[in-house]
Amino acid sequence: MSDGDNLKPVIDANSCTGCTICVEECPTGALDMSDDVSVLANPELCDGCGACEEVCPVSCITME
Ligand code: SF4
Ligand code: SF4
Repeated sequence: MSDGDNLKPVIDANSCTGCTICVEECPTGALDMSDDVSVLANPELCDGCGACEEVCPVSCITME
């Protein structure tokens, strides 16, 4: 378990539709697409803001 400030998005690759919305909405550029699925490509850039979780239309991102 980590503190709230250290939460990072965990993306369910099986549910991700590849819409790219989270990649576009991430303010830090931490996310990228890989094989039509969103991945936390640059975890060091993620500040845990939760924006990606909020915008995902199929709710396949959870902050953990
Ligand atoms: S939590 Fe915020 S900074 Fe981290 S990947 Fe999601 S939108 Fe980007
Ligand atoms: S917003 Fe959700 S469905 Fe769309 S690319 Fe991101 S994780 Fe996948």
